[in-house]
Amino acid sequence: MILFGTGGVKNLRNKQRRQGKCSRLLKIIKISVIVIVIVIVMINIICFTSCSRNKMEELNTINKNSSEKISVSASFYVMYDFSSKIGGDKASVENLLPYGTDPHTWEPSPKDIVSIQNARMLVYNGAGMEKWIEKVLKSIDVKNIIVVETSKNVKLLEIKFDEIGSVESSDGQQSNQAHVYDPHVWLDPSRAKLQIREIADAYIKIDPGNSDYYEKNYEYYAMELDKLDSEYKEAVSKFKTKDIVVSHAAFGYLCDAYGLRQIAISGLDEEAEPTALRMVEISEYIKANGITTVFFDKFANPKVIESIANSTGVKIAELNPIASLSLEEIEAGKDYFTTMRDNLETLKKALN
Ligand SMILES: [Zn+2]
Repeated sequence: MILFGTGGVKNLRNKQRRQGKCSRLLKIIKISVIVIVIVIVMINIICFTSCSRNKMEELNTINKNSSEKISVSASFYVMYDFSSKIGGDKASVENLLPYGTDPHTWEPSPKDIVSIQNARMLVYNGAGMEKWIEKVLKSIDVKNIIVVETSKNVKLLEIKFDEIGSVESSDGQQSNQAHVYDPHVWLDPSRAKLQIREIADAYIKIDPGNSDYYEKNYEYYAMELDKLDSEYKEAVSKFKTKDIVVSHAAFGYLCDAYGLRQIAISGLDEEAEPTALRMVEISEYIKANGITTVFFDKFANPKVIESIANSTGVKIAELNPIASLSLEEIEAGKDYFTTMRDNLETLKKALN
């Protein structure tokens, strides 16, 4: 048995008390550390799930947006065709002009204006082709619509009424006004290239994530337009005559591109009947210049064409300005390129 003095017992008690305090402190520290670790782990778990949920939501929105096609309103067939070709499967394009309707006289209905308003992009030709455009743009909220004037960077040609003769306008007055531009720019492939560039730029602005896709489509069709241009150049170089008598002054840019000369029976407004004097002028021109064919399109006044053909003995053939293909033409697989080539074949037959 070991005996302690009172002092020794006191010391031992103090020591034990100190040791007890220490172990309690250690316990508290241990528990605190565990609690802190648990809290950190919990925070991480909560953050991770909510963050990844946010990430998922973000991804879902992106997927939803990319599966949603860009809605495009196009003012007539060529604008529709070009917008469809550049937009590919990322766009849903609507042709505002009903099949086979004359684009020079058509005006959008209130329903058409609603679909323009709901579209993400409005593609039009400009240069006076869509006489309704300014009025419609003023009447709708264009904040969320990319408006694409495809002829914006195209060098425009003025309609020279002297060259094609005075044309009676619908109000019965002689229209010899200056600075009226020919809107049919798409009939020159090199100008059409500038038009598809405008369209490609608009898609890229709306959907920059797919810019490579739109660029590739642009490159492809720009090359196709170059091919078409060389086919025209080659064919026209063999033409014996460079004069084309047409029912409608739609081929000014085609003539400008390939050194042809357009003699139009009517000006831009085909429904207006040419004057008797103009009919005589045209017939005399045909006889004096050995013209063998008069070209008409689907909106030509058949009486006028027949009367000229009968009095001069020329053949008649169709040249299509492409602005308004019929349902039958669409169903037969016609588009800008096939129709441009059909026109070239018609010209070869008549002018070689
Ligand atoms: Zn036209």
